[in-house]
Amino acid sequence: MNLRKYLSRPKMNVLLSEDEKRIGKFDVIADHFPQKTIYSKWTHNLEGGALVPFDAPRKCFALIDGHRVNAQLCLSYWKTLTIAFSAIENAIVSNQDQNLWSIAQGDNPAWCECDMCKDENPYDTLIYFVNRIANAHPDKQFHTLLYYKTEQVGTVVPLPNVMVMPTTIQLSKHRPYQEQKREDARKWRINLLDLLELTSNVGIWDYYGNFKHLLAPNPTLYSIGANMRWFRSLGIQNFIIQTDAAIGHEGSYWKEAWIYRMLKYPFLNPMTQLKIIWRREFGRAAKYVKEYYDLLDANKGNGDYLNNWRVLEVYRDSFLSDKMMARYYDVFSYSNLRSFIIQIDYACVEIGTAPKYVAERLGRFCARLGNVTVNEHKKSVKTYLKEKGL
Ligand SMILES: [Zn+2]
Repeated sequence: MNLRKYLSRPKMNVLLSEDEKRIGKFDVIADHFPQKTIYSKWTHNLEGGALVPFDAPRKCFALIDGHRVNAQLCLSYWKTLTIAFSAIENAIVSNQDQNLWSIAQGDNPAWCECDMCKDENPYDTLIYFVNRIANAHPDKQFHTLLYYKTEQVGTVVPLPNVMVMPTTIQLSKHRPYQEQKREDARKWRINLLDLLELTSNVGIWDYYGNFKHLLAPNPTLYSIGANMRWFRSLGIQNFIIQTDAAIGHEGSYWKEAWIYRMLKYPFLNPMTQLKIIWRREFGRAAKYVKEYYDLLDANKGNGDYLNNWRVLEVYRDSFLSDKMMARYYDVFSYSNLRSFIIQIDYACVEIGTAPKYVAERLGRFCARLGNVTVNEHKKSVKTYLKEKGL
């Protein structure tokens, strides 16, 4: 990438949660806290109870299998628009300092099946709806998601002040998106390119964690750098990267720092930057971290589908096999990198593999839980241990 050309581009926006803002360890993050904020519950406010209250007329809510449900709204019904329009307008009046407002569908794959909606492309219905509100506030920026049913890009052109954000929620992370031959990845790439034909105000909501097993080893790391470079080469400036980067998770904050650096300086080599960050964080033990991720990557399996919800048993013949568990323990046997060892312990306990290690490791796993901050997932780990009778 041409450095001069890159530097002449508009400044990139990275949208960070409150939790992520706390992380100031790396200068690159501390200097670039987001200048913009998002209204309400980040997003998903086109479900009942957010922009449109539960006591609104039932025709405002999506018709699914003959019933009106709160999970989504009917965006074709005129009253839904007027209620949402007023809600946003009132919020803008009382929050003049905010300039980015989210208007995005509910967090589920449902979509209204009423007579007005059923024959329309959900993308078109959504963008038309958001455009109507954005048109009344040309000095504000708006944000919406392409998520599940709205992924198929249609023909409605978003207004310049509407940022459209496709998500990678359903894609596998086992390889960079650009390299995947899977049909869902191919369609997703086409939709992204179609969207870029309609607007340059595009963002990406990207995912790399396993939501059910945030502590578990996860061989997605090496796909991230390639994906970041691809997105940036397309001129995309806005990102939400949802990964298992909270304290105590696989990767923790150094992963977030690295992702941020890749987004900000896409001409840098991802692996070189990763090594710099590991060296800064782990000192001489950085070589063990690299060895661990190299092993994970080399054994992730050809056909394994890495997404956000998979059970770990799926991987017991690839990167979570008995043999590989033993290799990981060996890698860290000369260091005290507990945040990594706890990942292996967790996977051992969860899938019940590596039986000759489990008895020995269980005690250490519980001891380590007392020492490692697992942040918001402390509760789920506790629940997990309780369920296992530990
Ligand atoms: Zn409808």
